[in-house]
Order: sequence, then C-alpha cells, then structure tokens
Amino acid sequence: MKIICIGRNYVAHAQELKNDIPDEPVFFMKPDSSLLRNNDPFYIPDWTNEVHHEIELVIKINRLGKNIEKRFAHRYYDEVGLGVDFTARDIQRQLKAKGLPWEKAKAFDQAAVLSGTFFEKTVLPDAEAIGFKLDINGKTAQEGNSSLMIFSFEEIIAYVSKFVTLKIGDLIYTGTPAGVGPVKIGDHLEGYLEDKKLLDFMVK
Ligand code: ZN
Repeated sequence: MKIICIGRNYVAHAQELKNDIPDEPVFFMKPDSSLLRNNDPFYIPDWTNEVHHEIELVIKINRLGKNIEKRFAHRYYDEVGLGVDFTARDIQRQLKAKGLPWEKAKAFDQAAVLSGTFFEKTVLPDAEAIGFKLDINGKTAQEGNSSLMIFSFEEIIAYVSKFVTLKIGDLIYTGTPAGVGPVKIGDHLEGYLEDKKLLDFMVK
C-alpha cells in the first residue's frame, strides 16, 4: 500500500505557511514504513528541532482505479479515519529553499500516525462536512471541517489517479487545517473525528 498526502488543502493553512492557494492539488507520498499505529508513542528524531503536527482526515481506497472521473470517485472510498502528518518543518524549509523534494521532512519513520478506527462514510452525519480536531495537553491546537477543503475527496481521487494508480488499502491524507505547530517531548496528543476520540498518544 502507499500513502498519498495532499498539501495546502485549507486556505488558512496555506496562508500560515505563506504558500499560494493552489489551483490544482499538491500531493506527495510517504512509504508504509512511516506508519505509526495503535496509539504508540511518537519519538522525535534526533536530526530535527522542529517537528510539526498536522491533523488530517484520511480516506482509505477500496478498489483499483486509474483515471477516475470525479463523478465516480465517491465509489473508491467507504471509510474515513484520522491521521497526523508529522513534518520536520526545519528540514522542509531547507529543502524548499533549495527546490529539493520533501521526502526527508515527510517520509521518515513514524511520520504517518493513523487511527485504528475508520468510520463508514454512510454512518457520518454529513460526509461533506466532517469535523475534526487535535488537542494537545487538553487544549485544542487545530480544528477543521472537510467542508473547508479547497479540493474535495472526489476531486483529490480524480486528480491523483491521473498520475498514480490507486489500489485497495491505499491511504490518502487529505490536508491539514490551520494551527500547525511544533510538538515537544511529553506532549499528549488527542485527535477527534466529530465527537469520537480516535487518536490518543504521547510524544517522547
Ligand atoms: Zn499534511
């Protein structure tokens, strides 16, 4: 399986990183070795001084597809979960300045936190407006709603599948809302999809 991540999918987040509002989705990938599950602790790597949290809705691809039309894209996922796209922002900044790929800042071990629970989109009150948030040490750090995405789940699936075949079990991290910031040793992260707590882990 592969992990596809969408960058700059919320206007307020694109602005906080001083990026332009994209006219087409920006995507990048993480390897399966970056997954962190079971609410295991996240260990800050020793080569970065600035790991940022990015809470994101994650959709799971349920069938094989290539060149998927937007009107059919809803058939390619049934379930929505929650993840954290950990980003070594100091490293990413250096890479961006040199025009280099971001992998080192995004694809490292444990950089893709994933909830054990996914919800069938049919049980969500409104699949077009899914609320989610990240609390750190009991205080809300990021809050988002899928209705505020620049590119919808369907648009993302249609766009990415023009370039990359989607396979069963692939994950798409659909972008983070504003409020990204550094984590530090001892932080307690809790992620909610609607009112359900799906992530609950420590930074070490
Ligand atoms: Zn992200």
